[in-house]
Amino acid sequence: LNRRLAEFGTTIFAEMSALATRTGSINLGQGFPDTDGPEEIREAAVRALREGRGNQYPPGPGVPELRTAVAAHQLRRYGLSYDPDTEVLVTAGATEAIAASLLALLEPGDEVVALEPYYDSYAACIAMAGGRRVPVTLRPHHGEGGPSFRLDLDELRAAVTGRTRLLLINTPHNPTGTVLTREELTAIAELAVERDLLVVTDEVYEHLVFDDAEHVPLATLPGMRERTVTIGSAGKTFSFTGWKVGWVTAPSALVTAVRSAKQFLTYVASGPFQYAVAEALASPESYFTAFREDMRAKREVLAAGLAEAGFTVFRPAGTYFVTTDIRPLGETDGFAFCRSLPERAGVVAIPNAVFYDHREEGAPFVRFAFCKQIPVLEEAARRLKALA
Ligand code: PMP
Ligand code: GLN
Repeated sequence: LNRRLAEFGTTIFAEMSALATRTGSINLGQGFPDTDGPEEIREAAVRALREGRGNQYPPGPGVPELRTAVAAHQLRRYGLSYDPDTEVLVTAGATEAIAASLLALLEPGDEVVALEPYYDSYAACIAMAGGRRVPVTLRPHHGEGGPSFRLDLDELRAAVTGRTRLLLINTPHNPTGTVLTREELTAIAELAVERDLLVVTDEVYEHLVFDDAEHVPLATLPGMRERTVTIGSAGKTFSFTGWKVGWVTAPSALVTAVRSAKQFLTYVASGPFQYAVAEALASPESYFTAFREDMRAKREVLAAGLAEAGFTVFRPAGTYFVTTDIRPLGETDGFAFCRSLPERAGVVAIPNAVFYDHREEGAPFVRFAFCKQIPVLEEAARRLKALA
């Protein structure tokens, strides 16, 4: 293994899912739902397969139906107008969109400012592109609405240097559940404009925001559309993580650049599923509302269970993850805790430290996924309570 990748080892998601299978534990580690998405969308995929749509290589940028549906979704929800032919690119999940964006836009030695803790593929893809990551740490904040992880805008500004090429943003944020506010995003946008930076923004949890939180796409802010690559995914919004259908929306010069990298990664993927996702994106508003409501109810069950079990709970404003602090349980090392948890409680979770360069900052935090059926979450909560 070369030096660029040596530090990364095996992704924590594979390690923890294997641990769950081996020990027969409830898997609240890797973020995937335990029920598949809508029946009619599955049927749409079957229909595409039967009718011979997408069984051979689809067009490089993605099938026109899906590109049109992505553009329509961005326009309908956010008032963002993209040309389906030149400003939308279908990718093999958000994962490929992240990889292709970074491989296309970074020169060796370029700095990427990213919010820490970060989704694990960011660090690996920055490294593969020869870039240097510069983390800005979201820190625990004990405010009126309960504990949350917050961005320090001064730290963000200080992280930008003459070598910074792009900002890599993720909102709603995995693993903390933080949804950046309009004010925070406006400050990020002003910084990007002032320093003439590109922005890659991972918005795969755009439909999972709860209570008063609002998802504000960075590309909607002044001066941002022309410098922003926005990433979305069907895996999260429609509960088909195995289909690997994601997309990029950006001005044509940026889409062309990302496509230059993408064509040599997978070239194309997920033919018949692209047609099904095109139908899914055109779902009535009631689908998105019901999906969000279902996840909100699940958040309540798991957050309450974890609190009763003695964890400090960072109630997420978005995503389907809840981060906890294990120190009230007399624990300090999230890695050790997660490795022993299957044996002690029959539950698998993710140590947030894997998402940090500053491992010590993340040491006491552990992430649980709540995209599981309510009885499963209740059973996990019962088991965790027995830990005390
Ligand atoms: N970005 C974030 C923040 C994620 O949590 C995930 C995992 N679902 C991805 C990207 C990857 O998405 P996909 O499964 O579409 O590749
Ligand atoms: N995004 C999912 C998570 O954070 C995992 C995706 C993966 O396994 N690569 O749990």
